[in-house]
Amino acid sequence: MMDLMQKLAILGESARYDVSCSTSGVDRPNQGTGIGNASIGGICHTWTEDGRCVSLLKVLMTNYCEYDCAYCANRHSNDIVRAAFSPEELADLTIAFYRRNYIEGLFLSSGVVKSPDHTTELMIRVLELLRRQYRFNGYIHAKVIPGTSADLVEQTGFLADRISVNMEQCTVASLQQLAPQKTALAIAKPMQFIASRRQANRDEIIRYRHSPVFAAAGQSTQIIIGASPERDLQILSSTQRLYNDYQLKRVYYSAYIPINADKRLPAVSQAPPLLREHRLYQADWLLRFYRFEVSELLDIHQPDLDLEIDPKCAWALRHLDCFPVELNRADYETLLRVPGIGVQSARKIIAARRNRCLKLDDLKRMRLVMKRAAWFITCDGQYGAARIPQADSLRFLLADKAGIGRQSPMQLQLEDIPGVRAL
Ligand code: SF4
Repeated sequence: MMDLMQKLAILGESARYDVSCSTSGVDRPNQGTGIGNASIGGICHTWTEDGRCVSLLKVLMTNYCEYDCAYCANRHSNDIVRAAFSPEELADLTIAFYRRNYIEGLFLSSGVVKSPDHTTELMIRVLELLRRQYRFNGYIHAKVIPGTSADLVEQTGFLADRISVNMEQCTVASLQQLAPQKTALAIAKPMQFIASRRQANRDEIIRYRHSPVFAAAGQSTQIIIGASPERDLQILSSTQRLYNDYQLKRVYYSAYIPINADKRLPAVSQAPPLLREHRLYQADWLLRFYRFEVSELLDIHQPDLDLEIDPKCAWALRHLDCFPVELNRADYETLLRVPGIGVQSARKIIAARRNRCLKLDDLKRMRLVMKRAAWFITCDGQYGAARIPQADSLRFLLADKAGIGRQSPMQLQLEDIPGVRAL
């Protein structure tokens, strides 16, 4: 009979490929009636180099799965060691870890047992035990299995801070090919329900201040990159639709790690496309915070992001006629388009120039990333760099020559946390 720590080792490992948990996005202090706090920036204060968070107890309810998604380590056809927690075991374990300060919250997902609804009922039982019996007030991120019925999604949303339905593939063709038991509708329906339920919940809270909060930290999803032939244009277009139609908080991109030998997939020897994943995150950032549209970054003639330079520099190089920008006159939107100027820097520039005409020396004091910005700005009429370069040499100057130096995806193993074995 498998003991709890053996189950934990198996089910923690099985959950490692899901990247759709990073920040908590919710601030909820303890009111003195339970244990734990959820804080906006605090839940994921330990990061692996590739951006995956480790401070949640990230675990599957079970890695038994009746589905056979080609890219997944837990798929039905894989011959792996299987395990399952009972809801009581998992709730007890979460609280024990929380009390020992190993974790600040829970990220709970699961393989599909019997049906999406049956699986979700088991997960809801864990969340009920945590919230009602243990009065656990910490952060919880729960996955919603595609195809789960609306009333169970609703129950999950009132127990968890963040809920997410993994999209995995962004075209119907790839979904059919790689995850034949899932359908686009089974993924879209709960996403749509979560979006509309959150909207209704906002109205309830305005009317009745003490109404329970539904999915306070919103919903997110994950798209796997490189397992199927979609181009970055398709991926980012899907992303933009998700942000617009379902008000997702985040779309996570997960470079496909070849683990299964399957003729539908890239070869197992192939390295995960980590640089592509990184560029997609940069482009996603531009969509969310820099007011870019996908159509400005990519089109059918150039359907993939440039791996040598970041998407904002690539846009600037295609629009050299818009530069240089005079920092004393440019509006906020224009400032945001200058490579090296971020949201904070743009705000600082606008605040500082209210009182005086900015000079180049002021920019260094404001810690602007002049290495990039210098080629695209003037300040009080003075060009930021020593010379105006040709487009080709500018591209060379802006290229990530050293790459991003990212390492293979890894997650802190539970055995690596001192004391876990002694539980
Ligand atoms: S539903 Fe698909 S992705 Fe999820 S655990 Fe099962 S096989 Fe893996």
